Amino acid sequence: MNWNNDCYHKNFSHLYVEEKAWSYPLTKQILARFSASAVIPIQCYRDVFSSHRQMFSCQKQSPKLLLAVKEETAEALVYPGSPVCQSFGNQHFYYTSSVMNCLYDCEYCYLQGMYPSANLVVFVNLEAIFRQVEALLKKGPVYLCISYDTDLLALEGLFGYVRRWIDFTREHPALTVECRTKSAYVPKNLEPDLAKRFILAWTLSPSSVLTAYEHRTPSLSARLQAILQALEAGCRIRLCFDPMLRVPNWQSHYAELVEAVFSALTARMPDCLTNGQLADVSLGTFRISKEYLVRIRRNRPDSPLVQYPFRTESGVCSYGSAVDLEMMEWMKQKLLSWIPEERIFLWKETEKTERT
Ligand code: SF4
Repeated sequence: MNWNNDCYHKNFSHLYVEEKAWSYPLTKQILARFSASAVIPIQCYRDVFSSHRQMFSCQKQSPKLLLAVKEETAEALVYPGSPVCQSFGNQHFYYTSSVMNCLYDCEYCYLQGMYPSANLVVFVNLEAIFRQVEALLKKGPVYLCISYDTDLLALEGLFGYVRRWIDFTREHPALTVECRTKSAYVPKNLEPDLAKRFILAWTLSPSSVLTAYEHRTPSLSARLQAILQALEAGCRIRLCFDPMLRVPNWQSHYAELVEAVFSALTARMPDCLTNGQLADVSLGTFRISKEYLVRIRRNRPDSPLVQYPFRTESGVCSYGSAVDLEMMEWMKQKLLSWIPEERIFLWKETEKTERT
């Protein structure tokens, strides 16, 4: 018997719809798409999402969908990038969250510690976020990360938000966007001129790590195919080897990964390293706030990855500064055979964050 197939509802078997969200076109579109799902009207998404005694790991097997309207206060729409996040040298660095939670199930994901629920919330009023970004653009250029706290490209078939962000970026020449993903989906409406300002950032891990810890994510070869397809379409790519995990024989796994990735890219797109299409590479080791780790350990008592005896420094758990540095320096040396140093960004001790 397959318990997952037989005992759980299908994803989004239940849709919770906020009163304010009913009139939005995306709400209607989703209700039509999931016409067989039970629809439950609610006052406020927090009544369901933040209720007590939820079990993240069970909900992850069959997430429900909450359709909500994001508050229209500036602070609730676009957040200044924390000094602890990698800004890739951009001064006016912000991030925004139009969806909370993710279809994938990475064992190390900080969302398990940050949110009380594994159900997905989609804010159907993306226009409100656009308005706030336009207000910021009046003051100067903006660098905005749109796919933290979810994987927007993995959800593109459902919500189409990446397409809308691309269209919005096209209309605003002072805006640069980063969309981080592990998906195998490539946006269709990203022409090469615009691609300079819309960076597709793929997170990559060794196949062994991916199989063991990044549940339900596309394989390494599927991600590489997507990257190649994106490069061929003229897109600008960032590669994120973050978080690096200290698994047994980590050096051989990560050496194999670097070789596999760069051989595949240069075999089909020999110019991508020199023509700027491969914008840069980011490196970081696993780190997470102590508070989140406590909750994740409760959720995943049998995961050797999160039960590892981490060191805690300034409220952040990691392998420890010396080990982190050793791993990143080792990886940097491997990457230097392929890409110049100025295009390799290392997460630094002063940039502690659990974002992946
Ligand atoms: S780490 Fe990223 S891809 Fe994995 S579950 Fe979390 S948000 Fe999704």
